Amino acid sequence: MLRLPPFSFLRARDVAEAAGLLAEHGDQAMLVAGGTDLVPKMKRGQLTPTLLVGVGHLAELGHVSASDRGVEIGAGVTLARVAADARLGAAYPGYVQAAASVSSPALRNAGTIGGNLCVDTRCNYYDMSFEWRQALGFCMKKDGDVCRVAPASTYCRAIASSDTAPVAIALGATVVLVGPGGQRRELAAADLYQDDGRCYLTKQPGEVVESLRLPPPGGWRSAYVKVRRRHAIDFPLGGAAVALATTGPIIEACRIVLTAVGPRPLDVSAAAEPLVGRPLAEVLGGDVGLLAEVAAAAVKPAKPLDNADLHYVWRKQMTRRAVEQAIRQAARQPAPHGAPAATFGADAAGGAKRG
Ligand SMILES: Cc1cc2nc3c(=O)[nH]c(=O)nc-3n(C[C@H](O)[C@H](O)[C@H](O)COP(=O)(O)OP(=O)(O)OC[C@H]3O[C@@H](n4cnc5c(N)ncnc54)[C@H](O)[C@@H]3O)c2cc1C
Repeated sequence: MLRLPPFSFLRARDVAEAAGLLAEHGDQAMLVAGGTDLVPKMKRGQLTPTLLVGVGHLAELGHVSASDRGVEIGAGVTLARVAADARLGAAYPGYVQAAASVSSPALRNAGTIGGNLCVDTRCNYYDMSFEWRQALGFCMKKDGDVCRVAPASTYCRAIASSDTAPVAIALGATVVLVGPGGQRRELAAADLYQDDGRCYLTKQPGEVVESLRLPPPGGWRSAYVKVRRRHAIDFPLGGAAVALATTGPIIEACRIVLTAVGPRPLDVSAAAEPLVGRPLAEVLGGDVGLLAEVAAAAVKPAKPLDNADLHYVWRKQMTRRAVEQAIRQAARQPAPHGAPAATFGADAAGGAKRG
């Protein structure tokens, strides 16, 4: 049985204190929310903090609130709560699909959306016991110098594995970060990630994710299709998030973001250009050639490697199918409309329910 190594735990009084503790203790400290990713990785020696700063209990991270600027979801809100929220489901169906697709009910009850945005990248050469990795001489992601899947690579090729991040990016969401002095900054969800599986987040080590802001639905339909071996538990092995805006029956814009094909979610929206200005009916009614053309262009820049479950060529092929399916699913939805504050009603506006 794998055991947790010794560590200290400090329960932060608020977000600013959590950020201060991270800054004070440097790379010895890590935040813990639900612990569903961090704790197993500590047992395997993949992550080795000696201090955990608990934020999962903070009420200030537990809100879902709406305003004319959109909907704000606190970083401590659980995936299960997002998955069960019918108002979120009506306004941002793709985001809710993604939250509901994470792992299993038990892990969604504990896992948070902040933890999911920051979840570690994955690789077959890294997601192993300490002894296995030691026998191989470790890898660039932890304790070694060489990328085992691409030995000539100058950066780590572990893959982005968050289900919710690609949808947040496709929807044009932003992330609110709080730094050590309590100062806030907001950045596009897309800019939270960079192309290195080892240092995959751009946030400063002392920063805490406070919330995710989804812009008003404003007619954007959305869908998420995930590629995996089993229908539960498994991390994504590929997948596509799509956001689709229409004016009447005409497609006005389409964004496509791929997951699990590289160290960060891959925005391939340029591939959707042929859809713009076309009637939705063409997508739904069977211009199979058009969808196939868009999907093929979307996966062209994707470079999955042999470092995850299932063959990488098959993962790329299935990701192309995921793009087609996600566009079709988004096109079939009724366009979300109305100001989010009205959609969400008074109980959600400014509410601070923990869950
Ligand atoms: C068997 C198994 C299957 C899984 N399947 C999936 C899956 O299919 N899809 C998927 O996306 N994930 C999956 N996960 C990973 C994990 O359960 C989820 O990503 C979950 O949302 C992580 O949230 P958490 O609150 O538990 O994060 P934690 O484990 O507490 O933290 C994860 C990371 O986020 C950081 N963090 C946490 N909160 C904050 C914050 N507010 N600000 C800044 N950093 C923060 C932590 O320091 C840590 O680096 C799986 C895990 C397991 C064990």
